[in-house]
Amino acid sequence: MGDLSLFYDDHHEMIREMVREFAVAEIAPVASEFDESEQFPWENGAKMAEIGLFGIPFDEEFGGAGMDILASAIAVEELARVCGSHSIMIGAHTSLCATPIARFGTEEQKRRFLTPLASGQVLGGFGLTEPGSGSDAAAMRTTAEKKGDRWVLNGQKTWITHGGVGEIFVVGAVTDPEKGAKGITVFILTKETCDLEEATRVGFGHSDELDAMPGFQVGQKLRKLGWNASDTRELIFEDVEVPDANVLGEIDEGFPIFLDTLDGGRIGIAAHAIGIAQGALDEAVRYTGEREQFGRKINDFQGVRFMLAEMDTSIHAARVMTYHAARLRMAGKPYKKEASMAKLFASEAAMDVTTRAVQLHGGYGYSREYPVERMMRDAKITEIGEGTSEIQKMVISRELLKEHGQG
Ligand SMILES: Cc1cc2nc3c(=O)[nH]c(=O)nc-3n(C[C@H](O)[C@H](O)[C@H](O)COP(=O)(O)OP(=O)(O)OC[C@H]3O[C@@H](n4cnc5c(N)ncnc54)[C@H](O)[C@@H]3O)c2cc1C
Repeated sequence: MGDLSLFYDDHHEMIREMVREFAVAEIAPVASEFDESEQFPWENGAKMAEIGLFGIPFDEEFGGAGMDILASAIAVEELARVCGSHSIMIGAHTSLCATPIARFGTEEQKRRFLTPLASGQVLGGFGLTEPGSGSDAAAMRTTAEKKGDRWVLNGQKTWITHGGVGEIFVVGAVTDPEKGAKGITVFILTKETCDLEEATRVGFGHSDELDAMPGFQVGQKLRKLGWNASDTRELIFEDVEVPDANVLGEIDEGFPIFLDTLDGGRIGIAAHAIGIAQGALDEAVRYTGEREQFGRKINDFQGVRFMLAEMDTSIHAARVMTYHAARLRMAGKPYKKEASMAKLFASEAAMDVTTRAVQLHGGYGYSREYPVERMMRDAKITEIGEGTSEIQKMVISRELLKEHGQG
């Protein structure tokens, strides 16, 4: 790994070492097993909660570790280095659910919802995407109608990470259909986890203090190319009554909350992509140092070494871009364009590096005996989730043109 110490404080090094040790000892040995079984890793979730991974960037007052988003990105990276399904647990929960509550919630909302999220008592999710609206998120159809001191939600979300296992969700709904993106509100919804038995057994993933809102249901687990142990489902809202106290931010002003959440989330997905790519490079270095052909270790061949050099260089560039975007956000400076650039670059690097890692393993790379094929499958989602590569290019070009007075 190239020297990035200029971006670090001592606690960043400390968290990298701590999460790396944990990931190698607890997750790496079972990552393939969970990929095959497509089961949610409840026990490892409980262990991750125990060492405080669900609340890294949040105030200690609300159960967090009081660190920053660079520390959070580093933790995601080290988990992704061995398993994408485990690292997205932290990514989706922290960046997409707990962060908007921490940034836009009232003190009461933080006490009620951020505390169980940051302390790792329950899992959170983020409901933006719908069957008919993905990249064009403002075209959502879920509605919220005011009835007395409540809102009644009807509609459906899809592809929601932690849809089944989660208990707290940040969800968007149309409150004024005439106003497009300016008529969307964010609500905090609660339900019971879909696997209370497992949650109770491992002591993680459930709180008796949250209301299970009647009418808030989930669909079957969606089967995927990768992230197989991650729980992805539809959310279904049938006359779900949500109290005024669960409106996050102001009525009709939810869309900017989603955009803010996605800007930060893109740093998280970039870190996730870097971790997967680093894991694949680690495997490729190991394998090419052992495998012999033509009477030599294959890493004696210049063609192989050049490939390793290019993989290492892309990962280093992705890290510099991602840590820089995180530092801009930590300094309170604009970082939208840099976060999109980092996400675009890191996710495409992850796809390229994992594909080359499979290539460097030859036929064995195509087999389930080696982790690189899983890493290649897990890498693909980073080019799609939290804004596809094409959407990142829209964001970057819009910012670029603004800089040139053409926005
Ligand atoms: C495993 C997984 C987990 C997910 N988790 C969550 C979650 O927790 N919460 C959540 O809300 N969502 C989640 N998503 C949804 C994800 O964010 C969307 O899939 C993504 O934003 C793309 O939306 P879409 O699938 O509807 O594709 P579409 O928007 O239909 O895009 C299809 C293609 O068209 C391209 N395209 C669309 N518009 C343009 C344009 N203007 N210019 C050029 N190209 C364009 C896209 O880049 C893409 O290549 C998840 C998805 C997956 C697969």
